[in-house]
Amino acid sequence: MDHATAGRPAGPAPQRASSRPVPFFSQAASFEEAWPDIRTRVSEVIDDGKYSHGQQVGRLETALAEWTGARHCVGVNSGTDALVLLLRACGLQPGDEVVVPAFSFIATASSVVLAGGRPVFADIDPVTYALDPEAAADAVTERTTMLMPVHLFCQMADMGALARVAGRHGLTLVEDSAEAIGMRWDGVHAGLLGAGGVLSFFPTKTLGAIGDAGAILTDDPRIAATAAALRHHGRTGRTLAHFPGISNATELNGVNSKMDDIQAAVLLAKLPRLAHAVRRRAELAAAYTERLRDVPGLVRLPTVAERDVPTDAVFYVYLVEAERRDRLVAHLAAHGVGTETYYPVPLHLQPCFSELGFKQGQFPNAEAACERTVALPLHPDMTTADIDTVCDLIRRFSMGRAG
Ligand SMILES: *Cc1c(COP(=O)(O)O)cnc(C)c1O
Repeated sequence: MDHATAGRPAGPAPQRASSRPVPFFSQAASFEEAWPDIRTRVSEVIDDGKYSHGQQVGRLETALAEWTGARHCVGVNSGTDALVLLLRACGLQPGDEVVVPAFSFIATASSVVLAGGRPVFADIDPVTYALDPEAAADAVTERTTMLMPVHLFCQMADMGALARVAGRHGLTLVEDSAEAIGMRWDGVHAGLLGAGGVLSFFPTKTLGAIGDAGAILTDDPRIAATAAALRHHGRTGRTLAHFPGISNATELNGVNSKMDDIQAAVLLAKLPRLAHAVRRRAELAAAYTERLRDVPGLVRLPTVAERDVPTDAVFYVYLVEAERRDRLVAHLAAHGVGTETYYPVPLHLQPCFSELGFKQGQFPNAEAACERTVALPLHPDMTTADIDTVCDLIRRFSMGRAG
């Protein structure tokens, strides 16, 4: 199947001087095919004159609910806001503890603080990089009310075991499914295994907008209604007894986190291509694995865990662990290949959480992941030749032949 390398003669790696640079993410390329549709839809928004929280947003919510199987989808202006509003809508109270993994994007834990709670970190599984169910159970105290696993890179956390931990301790299960569009656990879309989850449409995500946008997914009508009010200054739309006829009741202290219609229009144009993009990402990931399987110096390639139930993986990121990660990153950059380090600092050692009192050495799996992992370029418009470029460079580096 590997036509690109099958016919290659043995001997030195081919000249790379002519290969094109491989950026980590390419905005223009990822829009090429959808662009005419995007232009039409964005023009419609401009002509329509409703730029925030308008018709396009409503249409997108309906389309996303259908795509994911969620009963409710609430569009907001980022994945981070979606987390904050979801936690509030799920009833997080001041001082409540929320168990989160020590290895994730900062917003996983800062959203807990912004919603008035207290993040409590736990270590990750070294293969899936997701919250370890036993570590999560050990982190539960009498003040813990919620458990928030994160689905990172290509697969979901062990939701069977985590749901059992939540059930045993009476915790509300919420999911940071910001990266997890298209991932499913026994047929259930990420974000819908507990009280609710989120999606991020940050431009680099599997379904990316041309700016910030996010959404809350839930099957619970009360959570959806509260989140919808919170994103719009806390307005519930009900009438006030002392101002009859005015439907402007503000019953909660909300925020302004409405979604822009231009972003909704872009996402509506891209959504029909999402399934194809997911398949293309899987093909590219398989091409990487085929070429990198036996490269010395790479200590781990992405491994989708076997579960008791069928799961759908989605390669949002192709993450490898390398022995000399920082030197590999510099080597790739010097040859025109972009990478990202997700995440260089574990959450428990971030200065903004220093008051929580966690220490270096406490979560060895999370700390090791921060030191060794690097994400390679993975976007649907890459070619097999791009994959070859990246893999040849990595192989040469690992063989110690890097200039
Ligand atoms: C991207 C991301 C977020 C935040 O989403 P934004 O839309 O960038 O605010 C939260 N958690 C995880 C795991 C993410 O990858």
